[in-house]
Amino acid sequence: MSTTTPPVHTTMNQFSAAGNELLVGGLPLSRLAERVGQTPFYAYDRKLLRTRVAELHTALPANVKLHFAMKANPMPAIVGFMACLVDGIDVASAGELKIALDAGADPHEISFAGPGKRDNELRQAVAAGVLINVESFREVELLAGISQALGLPARIAVRVNPDFELKGSGMKMGGGPKQFGVDAEQVPELLTKIGERNLAFEGFHLFAGSQNLKAESICEAQQKSYDLALTLSRHTPSPISFLNLGGGFGIPYFPGEKQLDLTSIGQNLEQLSQRASVDFPGASLVIELGRYLVGEAGIYVSRVVDRKVSRGQTFLVVDGGLNHHLSASGNFGQVIRKNYPVAIGNRMNAGITEIASVVGPLCTPLDILADRMTLAVAEPGDLVVVFQSGAYGASASPQRFLGHPEVNEILV
Ligand SMILES: *Cc1c(COP(=O)(O)O)cnc(C)c1O
Repeated sequence: MSTTTPPVHTTMNQFSAAGNELLVGGLPLSRLAERVGQTPFYAYDRKLLRTRVAELHTALPANVKLHFAMKANPMPAIVGFMACLVDGIDVASAGELKIALDAGADPHEISFAGPGKRDNELRQAVAAGVLINVESFREVELLAGISQALGLPARIAVRVNPDFELKGSGMKMGGGPKQFGVDAEQVPELLTKIGERNLAFEGFHLFAGSQNLKAESICEAQQKSYDLALTLSRHTPSPISFLNLGGGFGIPYFPGEKQLDLTSIGQNLEQLSQRASVDFPGASLVIELGRYLVGEAGIYVSRVVDRKVSRGQTFLVVDGGLNHHLSASGNFGQVIRKNYPVAIGNRMNAGITEIASVVGPLCTPLDILADRMTLAVAEPGDLVVVFQSGAYGASASPQRFLGHPEVNEILV
């Protein structure tokens, strides 16, 4: 039997510890678990959310608007908190639209994107007065009818499927044949239609991809998006009032990955916003981020139920797994499974470590939270923490699979 030791993670130093206890929102983890009253749970740290937004405000030019793409974390308390910190909320369904409106987000600063918006979702969006990123000719036709029927303007931006990709992106969402947006080559024709139908055209939306840690690639995509929007702007029925350049800012999950270099992205956006002041007077640039805003502020906490040794390998069986945290199990878009950073949250300073695997309670070998990692020696009752869990967690997981209880979420 060959056992290769997986590489060790850099510590997740956005959280600190006091003695053996990880501190979350200033509270020792064991106490927080008592407060929640059950495991597993997700905990999101307000201070870290605030810090992340402040870092972005420092690095990005003041006139670039920052939006939160709430699909990364639609917990109502998070959306309410973020709505007060950022300039707008991006929603991708009528369900998310409801949460954003309930959270008190200004409808004028909400934008709605997504392929396959249903007729009723479009009606709701027009009634709410939010901006709709249209992604097909059908949507434009429907919105013209809805606008007339309701006697309300339909605020429209065109989501463009660019003729380039975001290099080095974890998930490509633009370039080549895609279900998202309208191919750049078809946009002039769509803009003509929007003009004929008297719809309120406001700008362009380009989103090339997600989870990118290479600042140069992001800058290059932003420049290309800008140039494409400039070319297309010759065909717009009215001047552009904003240009959404997408996002794609990644966070480090795996050994060897490093924090994104925000400084060079800020400089690039500074240049683009200077160009925009000439090319699109009065227009603002928008950046929309999901994972980067919330991902590092969240942890997933489960409790060790059993400790087993099978043919020399130690397994910590915990009370939650892929049913709550599909991403950490490696089944949400990963090609080769890698470990998220994991620690025993009530043994942060333990001297004795061992190599153990953390597995969930589901009857499937896919239910792995940590595959042979170096961890503090843990016993039933201990708390296992998965870091980098603030984005694409609870809402992106098959919670009903195998009938275990739903996960709790708290904002501290
Ligand atoms: C998913 C998505 C985002 C957020 O992506 P992150 O990688 O979480 O930043 C932003 N915009 C659009 C259009 C999306 O579909």
